[in-house]
Amino acid sequence: MMYDVVIVGSGPAGLTAAIYTSRAGLKTLVAAGMLWGGNLMLTTEVENFPGFENGILGPELMEQMRKQAERFGAELVFENATSLDLKSKPFKVTVGNMGHEAKAVIIAAGASAKWLGLESETRLRGRGVSVCATCDAAFFRNKKVVVVGGGDTALEEAFVLSRVASEVKIIHRRDKLRATKFLQEKAFENPKISFVWNSTVKEILGKNIVEGIKLHNVVSGEECVLECDGVFVAIGHKPNTEIFKEQVELDAAGYIIVKEHTRTNIDGVFAAGDVTDPRYRQAIAAAGSGCKAAIDAEKYLIGQ
Ligand code: NAP
Repeated sequence: MMYDVVIVGSGPAGLTAAIYTSRAGLKTLVAAGMLWGGNLMLTTEVENFPGFENGILGPELMEQMRKQAERFGAELVFENATSLDLKSKPFKVTVGNMGHEAKAVIIAAGASAKWLGLESETRLRGRGVSVCATCDAAFFRNKKVVVVGGGDTALEEAFVLSRVASEVKIIHRRDKLRATKFLQEKAFENPKISFVWNSTVKEILGKNIVEGIKLHNVVSGEECVLECDGVFVAIGHKPNTEIFKEQVELDAAGYIIVKEHTRTNIDGVFAAGDVTDPRYRQAIAAAGSGCKAAIDAEKYLIGQ
């Protein structure tokens, strides 16, 4: 099947691009992924997306964007893009087992949570180790949990957990948080949240379920054990560019390099959202760049 535009990804960038391309009358396919909707599907309240005075739930916002794209005729396939050939035109994109052709491609594949890389972390994933408080907080009612990281994500994970857990300790490798001031103040005021500074996790303890963590103090060099029932890793994200790395130009951290607005190094291939953006990582910024990528793709197709 030949499409004017194939969009890889269905977070705010991908779905905004789909709203624009389909509304412009371009035949649009969205490789939405088996878990569609991106990282907002893993959040609760979104308070800073303009237009919602009292906030909106992340999944509800994504549902609205999806329906809006479908209303204009965008076709969504709930499978992952498994391979691409962007070396010759028309471009080829395989979604699940199905091959498609595209005159233009918009990559909006997003970014995924990073892990610490410990053997014990892999072994105990889903057994007390998680990267998603919204998904898993309910398992830790009246239990002790730790959150690893010092950015906005870590504090937001801690807030979600503090609603159910008996105590939340944030383990940070420095003595200053990276998170925005507003969230820091909210965390310092929360009676359930406390901090362990200058510390890294050496090991997660427990055979079949999490029983604690071994901590290393990077200033004193001392090690200690902290008992806990859950470990939430919130140390940032990495771009989902595995299937694109032989195809488009990436920077050293794996993000797609865009020049001249949303253009990649390949004529006719555009990129938007967190897959290009290590800095802002905001739904509204992603939606804005999805809009730009759609307009750039439309102009490119007119030029063809
Ligand atoms: P981030 O800002 O990069 O913070 C990652 C945190 O994890 C840092 O504190 C970092 O420590 C720590 N860290 C990284 N690797 C580590 C490791 N191997 N071991 C231990 N600690 C490690 O990531 P983020 O919190 O996901 O936020 C990313 C972006 O999204 C930011 O721009 C943020 O503002 C935005 N965001 C915004 C909201 C919101 O507006 N509500 C919510 C979530 C995210 P160091 O500080 O020492 O580097």
